[in-house]
Amino acid sequence: MKNSSSLTSRLCASALKRTPFRRELLQVFDNAKAPLSAAQIYQLLRGNKKLKAMRFDRATLFRNLKTLVSKNILNTTEFGTGAAFYCLNSDHHHHHHVFCIRCETTKPLDLCAVGPMISQANQLGFKVLKHRLELLGLCPTCQ
Ligand SMILES: [Zn+2]
Ligand SMILES: [Zn+2]
Ligand SMILES: [Zn+2]
Repeated sequence: MKNSSSLTSRLCASALKRTPFRRELLQVFDNAKAPLSAAQIYQLLRGNKKLKAMRFDRATLFRNLKTLVSKNILNTTEFGTGAAFYCLNSDHHHHHHVFCIRCETTKPLDLCAVGPMISQANQLGFKVLKHRLELLGLCPTCQ
């Protein structure tokens, strides 16, 4: 719970209403410390006691995810499965992820090593604006 104040201030800063649903939704990301698909988020929210009394469906979840992405509170990425994965747009540095193709677990990788590739693109006369790189494989449990 120690980060809930910063999560709350994130909602404040973007002039979003601090609904209980949004608070719990951001808490899910803060606990996971990794990107999650809408299906994974839905499962986690379903098991949340604080939301037990509240009626919410997949449409509520999708609508809120869309809003948080549009406010740059969440980033999206994908791992070739066709499903979007959502990740907290952390104030700290740019990062990448490793993804398990079997159980769809993801972990952040706290470094970016594409510098040499960007240099090569620059040598080809390109100005690189952004890049995407995700590693795919098998997690310890699935090997
Ligand atoms: Zn991430
Ligand atoms: Zn796995
Ligand atoms: Zn990078």
